[in-house]
Amino acid sequence: MDPRLAALGEFGVIGLIRQQAVHRSPGTIRGIGDDAAVVAAPEGKRLLLTTDMLLEGVHFQRRWGGLRDLGRKALAVNVSDIAAMGGRPLYALLGLAFPPEGTTLEELKALLAGMEEEAATYGVTLVGGDTCGSQSGLVLSVTLVGAAPPGSLLVRSGAKPGDTLWVTGMLGGSAAGLAALEMGLGPAAEWPADLRRPGWLDVEGESAIQAAIRTHLTPVPRLVAGQALVGSATAMIDVSDGVASDVLHLCEESGVTARVAAEQIPIHPGAVVMARLTGRDVLDLALRGGEDYELLFTAATDPRPVLAEAAPDLRVTRIGEMLAGLPLPRLMQSGGREEPLIGGFDHLRRTA
Ligand code: ADP
Ligand code: MG
Repeated sequence: MDPRLAALGEFGVIGLIRQQAVHRSPGTIRGIGDDAAVVAAPEGKRLLLTTDMLLEGVHFQRRWGGLRDLGRKALAVNVSDIAAMGGRPLYALLGLAFPPEGTTLEELKALLAGMEEEAATYGVTLVGGDTCGSQSGLVLSVTLVGAAPPGSLLVRSGAKPGDTLWVTGMLGGSAAGLAALEMGLGPAAEWPADLRRPGWLDVEGESAIQAAIRTHLTPVPRLVAGQALVGSATAMIDVSDGVASDVLHLCEESGVTARVAAEQIPIHPGAVVMARLTGRDVLDLALRGGEDYELLFTAATDPRPVLAEAAPDLRVTRIGEMLAGLPLPRLMQSGGREEPLIGGFDHLRRTA
């Protein structure tokens, strides 16, 4: 065990967290250090509460990347949930369990620094948490509190027949990045020479995979876009389980169905390369891969002008439409043939 960690102990580590959590919003009355955090209730707003866990061995492997990226991701995936409601993130609580035997002080500091980096980016104040030793890997559980005016919440249940269906960014990047990491093609890895055959992994292919790995390790929550879509989107969700599952969630909550056009799915270039390398279906990676943290939303009017103004660099693609009917979304292939749109990853069923 890192002797400096042993010397710090639980309360020393909490002191370190307190030291590193420098972003402090004016609404923070008592942050880390009391029995509970105290914050000013945002006047006239609804509170949004969300939590997401990252478990070693389930969501990540330590060998895939540094803990700084992991700290960033732990906060980013929660910010994504607040973004998907059209809200603004405010306060975070961090549940942290780490195996003291396998963690160095530098790693712990990197984790906290990554988290603080995202906190500062998105205006989040870390106001508390809990710290334990873990006997089975690193666990990060972030709870995030956000706010939004009552009339401007973007829920999953607002889609109506006739609305169009849209997604930001590109899909399948995170799943492709994960597949690459599982093959050992990490950021710093020596890539096997036989992968470099022309047509398999030229320079462009390599950079597409690196971009996919970045998407997987450090997803970017679409906070600005989420807030900008208040007023034009009718329903919204962030793509955490894969678009196929998330379309189903929108349909079920709204009591409508959807037709998704396979041809319109914006596929991440890394997914194209990884599909070729692994023999997997590229559309499957894009539709069922998960963890892209893009926004999937419905709209009654064209959302592009609003997004072009608020997030000019963010791509947005119309991928389908909402229809009256039972919530069993359909996928339309290029020839016009339709098939059921089957869902993606399920943690408890362990299907992918
Ligand atoms: P208690 O025993 O009363 O729950 P703790 O000793 O667990 O208090 O925590 C002391 C203070 O440190 C509290 O303000 C708590 O919110 C904060 N804290 C503990 N662990 C973390 C963490 N991982 N991240 C942020 N704050 C933390
Ligand atoms: Mg405690």
